[in-house]
Amino acid sequence: MDSSSPDVVIAGAGIIGASIAWRLAQAGLAVTLVDAGTVGGEASWAGAGMLAPGGEVETRDAWSDLALESLRLYPDFVAELESASGILIDYRRSGAVDVAFDEGEWQSLRRRAEAQRPLGIPSICLSAADVLTRIPLFNREIAGALFYPEDAIVDPRDIMRALRTACCVRGVEIREGFRTRRIDGHGDSVEVEGECLTLHASVAVLAAGAWSSQIQVSVNGAHESRPQSFPVRGHLVGYQLEAGSLGPILRSGRTYVLQRSGGFTIAGTSSENVGFDRNLDERVIRDITARAGDLLPYLSQRSYTTAWNGFRPGIDAPAPEMRRLDGNNIWLAYGHYRNGILLAPVTANLISRQILSSSQHVGPHQN
Ligand SMILES: Cc1cc2nc3c(=O)[nH]c(=O)nc-3n(C[C@H](O)[C@H](O)[C@H](O)COP(=O)(O)OP(=O)(O)OC[C@H]3O[C@@H](n4cnc5c(N)ncnc54)[C@H](O)[C@@H]3O)c2cc1C
Repeated sequence: MDSSSPDVVIAGAGIIGASIAWRLAQAGLAVTLVDAGTVGGEASWAGAGMLAPGGEVETRDAWSDLALESLRLYPDFVAELESASGILIDYRRSGAVDVAFDEGEWQSLRRRAEAQRPLGIPSICLSAADVLTRIPLFNREIAGALFYPEDAIVDPRDIMRALRTACCVRGVEIREGFRTRRIDGHGDSVEVEGECLTLHASVAVLAAGAWSSQIQVSVNGAHESRPQSFPVRGHLVGYQLEAGSLGPILRSGRTYVLQRSGGFTIAGTSSENVGFDRNLDERVIRDITARAGDLLPYLSQRSYTTAWNGFRPGIDAPAPEMRRLDGNNIWLAYGHYRNGILLAPVTANLISRQILSSSQHVGPHQN
């Protein structure tokens, strides 16, 4: 591939940028994927990996249909990625259990379930005995519980390892340590300016997560305004438990516990507006472990083995930016906030199809 003039340059190699790169390369385009750090080193490394419209969607809005479509795409996305990369991905349609500890919480869960049914999100009521059958570690008095059979879990770190390999297999040029400063569109071409090098291509995609607003976007040199991205820091805490000891995701309010296949168990989370501060906050970690121990008392007898944080890509708009900028070849794909792992398959399909159908000048590239 001629790295000095690829068809497409993608700025940001999180799950969003890397999924788009893979789809475009599968279609035969020459793609360069650049990242200021490393592939999948930020939010897409930190995410818990719940694929859970049951806990996230309450009304039909700009992104709820996308969330449901992406959940439907996930099993094939994972199977295709495993086959393309040879890397196994820890993905499970685990279901999720939401528990209510008082009548007020139970009524609000039931109202949410009523609102979700017409959107195509099924749930069933569980008694305390039913919950104990599904989650033997959960032995608490409850006012009620709901089971969401379609919610699922994936390990986003597996996805990122697999995407990296699948991209390499398809000839995507990966440039780590390439901090994009500016993307400029001129008619049918774009310039992606880094600190030491400017890349020229037919198309650019801005997919730099929480950092997307730090990259200047212009058309013929004139600044383009667009919704601002910003970081919403979240902490997670990990425990090593016996594999298979927690089947479904367990949720209550803003606290959740989920388990990877090997028994690594994650409790979350927090939502903090502290800019790009990477320091672990012991106070926040104590709050999460206390809430998790309250939800699943078994955890209060265990010590957590690790804790980490990451920056959700918040956006100053009701839904992620997933569109072409008017009149030029720059696409935006950022602002997936707390559902970017879930939304990756649908975002990659949408953006890659728009790019492929947009212009006869864009590939497929002849290797
Ligand atoms: C604690 C936590 C829990 C979460 N749990 C879930 C969950 O359960 N389910 C779910 O669906 N989502 C979850 N999320 C959200 C999800 O992780 C994100 O929405 C998703 O990872 C965003 O992907 P992205 O590719 O847009 O961003 P990122 O993964 O952050 O990727 C952006 C990339 O851009 C790069 N970059 C930055 N600046 C530049 C530049 N100037 N030039 C080039 N590259 C640049 C960065 O280095 C980074 O690699 C969670 C997030 C957090 C923090």
